[in-house]
Amino acid sequence: MIANNDSDTDEKRIKPKNTLTKNPQTQHESISNTLRPNSIESDMTHEEFRRHGKEMIDYIADYLTNIHERRVTPEVEPGYLRPMLPEDAPEKGEPWNDIMKDVDRTIMPGITHWQHPRFHAYFPAGNSYPSILAEMLSSGLGIVGFSWAASPACTELEPIMLDWLGRMMSLPTKFLPFNTNKGCEPETPNCDNDSEAENNSGAVLLGSASECILVAMLAARTKKLESKRLENPSMEDGQILSKLVCYTSKLAHSSVEKASLIAMVQIRHLIVDEHYSLRGQTLDECIQADKEQGLIPFFVCGTLGTTSCCSFDNFEELGQICQREQLWLHVDGAYAGAALICDEYRYLSRGFEYVDSFNTNPNKWLLMNFDCSCFWVQDKFAVINAMSVDPLYLQHKHTEKSTDLRHWGIALSRRFRSLKLWFTIRSYGVEGLRHYIREHCRLAKVFAALINEDDRFEIVGDVVLGLVCFRLKGKNKLTEKLLLS
Ligand code: PLP
Repeated sequence: MIANNDSDTDEKRIKPKNTLTKNPQTQHESISNTLRPNSIESDMTHEEFRRHGKEMIDYIADYLTNIHERRVTPEVEPGYLRPMLPEDAPEKGEPWNDIMKDVDRTIMPGITHWQHPRFHAYFPAGNSYPSILAEMLSSGLGIVGFSWAASPACTELEPIMLDWLGRMMSLPTKFLPFNTNKGCEPETPNCDNDSEAENNSGAVLLGSASECILVAMLAARTKKLESKRLENPSMEDGQILSKLVCYTSKLAHSSVEKASLIAMVQIRHLIVDEHYSLRGQTLDECIQADKEQGLIPFFVCGTLGTTSCCSFDNFEELGQICQREQLWLHVDGAYAGAALICDEYRYLSRGFEYVDSFNTNPNKWLLMNFDCSCFWVQDKFAVINAMSVDPLYLQHKHTEKSTDLRHWGIALSRRFRSLKLWFTIRSYGVEGLRHYIREHCRLAKVFAALINEDDRFEIVGDVVLGLVCFRLKGKNKLTEKLLLS
């Protein structure tokens, strides 16, 4: 911003002329037309928006109603799209119908139908009509909720939804944004209802599980850097950084490795036991070996539901070691975290009382569409310390009394994602969501039984939730061929 001594200009900047009082009609016109910036022929009018919006809803509903009639994967080759589109952007606006015709002609042939009933690749991609409608409302409102002042409802709904979901999953109260000690029944595995410790808990929605893991790692890194600086003031940050080590299992998602690349720390991929679970002794041995080399362990990422076979690390064992060694323990439950809303799967979170932060993606397995990654942290100040910058132009008069969620992640701008949680949870109710999870798990058991009846196949790992990991008996090449076909 350029300093300007011209008092007239300052005056104009601070007190814009109130044209509303002079000419209410003109002002109203210009306000109501902010989505029609040009007032030229090609602008979509409000009436056209209503019409095309309804057509779009029909288009989506038809697509989802008849999706089973399509092939799951497209039959196009890489580079198929470029020759179908003009080289340059159109100089003049084009009719809406032409755009939609081109969706059918050029885009739909290149779509992999993730919502298809026969789509079984990767991981489930959550979706539901309430969630789609919430996305529409979020787009329509067009807000950017980086601070409380930038949109109070966006900032306030988010922790309320993460509190709801945290209670639904019986997360320890140390994670719940409103900390009213109603998080869990006293007999549940992680219940810390008696805890009188100060609660600095916080929760936020981020764009992906990868982002949650990175934020956790950066928070842990800053915390360790600070404590090491205090212990040894002559040591420079660069020296400490070069010695930091994080730990995860060989089966952890690649996003842990990516986070370590970005955070510029060393990573150890540890072996797992016969249930594909990372155990305390393996972690402990590696930590001790690293410490003997003068390295500084600082972060462990356990997984609740690994990507390849949905196995579960032993958080109780890992947690005790992390507590003793003062390491940050993060748990990545991107897919399987959703199962914690069912009583019978709560045992999977045994040991969560030791956990510093946890993430799960309702956009994988709770009927919400991408993106919607939930991140809970025991010590929100550790995150804020690592991520916070505070330029003057973003401060507001409620800064002291409110939370600005821009301090909780990498991006400044934030979408109104919590609407998806609100719409979806309210539409299905916790009961409906539990039924959805249970049905997936039931179907997985049916499928596992079919595999077990067939001599050609074998199951790898335990079938606990909705994922069945299986292979053809014999050489890996056979299974690779099956996968490709
Ligand atoms: N963690 C686990 C266990 C996953 O299965 C996945 C994706 O499949 C991820 C992390 C990455 O998720 P995202 O795409 O939200 O970064």
